[in-house]
Amino acid sequence: MTKQYCITLLSGDGIGPEIMTVAVAVLKRVGEQLDIGFEFKEALIGGAAIDATGEPLPAETLEICKTSDAVLLAAIGGYQWDTLPSHLRPERGLLGLRAGLELFANLRPAKILPQLINASPLKREVVEGVDIMVVRELTGGIYFGQPKGVFETETGEKRGVNTMVYTEGEIDRIGRVAFDIARKRGKKLCSVDKANVLEVSQLWRDRMIQLAQEFPDVELSHLYVDNAAMQLVRYPKPFDTIVTGNLFGDILSDEAAMLTGSIGMLPSASLGTSKPGVFEPVHGSAPDIAGQDKANPIAQVLSAAMMLRYGLDEPEAADRLEQAVLKVLDADYRTGDIMSLGMKLVGCQAMGEALLEALG
Ligand code: NAD
Repeated sequence: MTKQYCITLLSGDGIGPEIMTVAVAVLKRVGEQLDIGFEFKEALIGGAAIDATGEPLPAETLEICKTSDAVLLAAIGGYQWDTLPSHLRPERGLLGLRAGLELFANLRPAKILPQLINASPLKREVVEGVDIMVVRELTGGIYFGQPKGVFETETGEKRGVNTMVYTEGEIDRIGRVAFDIARKRGKKLCSVDKANVLEVSQLWRDRMIQLAQEFPDVELSHLYVDNAAMQLVRYPKPFDTIVTGNLFGDILSDEAAMLTGSIGMLPSASLGTSKPGVFEPVHGSAPDIAGQDKANPIAQVLSAAMMLRYGLDEPEAADRLEQAVLKVLDADYRTGDIMSLGMKLVGCQAMGEALLEALG
């Protein structure tokens, strides 16, 4: 093998193991085709880890992740762990992983596939051809800024406080990731802020303008967040890559994702500077259909494609996985969540087989 990568697999709970099996099979196939070797290491997270070790993120799991080239995660959570104290809940595993790997950039694509255009809540002519990547800052901004809390004033009235803070360093590191991604896509970056009202946003905008000098091939534009929210549903086509802070990104990435209308199709990536990135579907562990061979594995396969493109810099392998997804949809294969009249209903396994056939 010319290239060899070590991948940590975190299958987690619910439909996680079913969709992970499909992703691993397609990765192996594309690896054989392009002479890329994958060494897969499985580790525990979420409910499965709680049952086996009492903790949602065992130290051993974090260690295995840290020493790999990328982490492919499926989903965590389920009804049986919902009553545990909050520090022992499966979700804590995810937060611990993000903190442990210092993942500060969250990438959420929203791409309209022609085969599923009717799933979009918007009109065909508005969403046709939409292909957006939202890059959200994940570890700073108002969710983490100090002071925060509910305090009592001198008059005894309660006062809730959160603080939106960004340092130049935090803005620059997310900015560089976003410019770099825009460079690998349509070379257009739209920075979203609220610079007309917030000083922190003015600093954000100033830094983005400064950074643009390092990326002369990328066209930088700016939008206020209220306008961006409006444009995303009015005329989303001109957007290519969007970069924004934690709070605005939380909201805009969900809005952009909903343009596609299908949760079983959406991948995501979280990246740090020097440690491996984590690549995972946007959806959860779908306990209502777990173990029934009904899950759609496509978001997991597209997450594997993001891992190849943004985590391992293997764009050709990523292209192949994405093309295989388009082929199976062209051949009318559909899992229950994206089923429509006249299509062929398949389960998770059969969808996996169709993807392998499409890969050739
Ligand atoms: P969910 O995304 O698991 O499910 C929402 C609905 O979408 C369900 O009807 C489910 O059957 C369907 N669905 C989701 N993914 C699908 C797929 N690949 N194929 C077909 N149908 C799919 O969200 P939820 O029901 O709110 O949460 C279930 C559990 O997942 C909870 O424990 C929650 O905490 C957890 N969760 C985990 C993550 C994660 O791991 N990142 C994200 C969200 C929720």
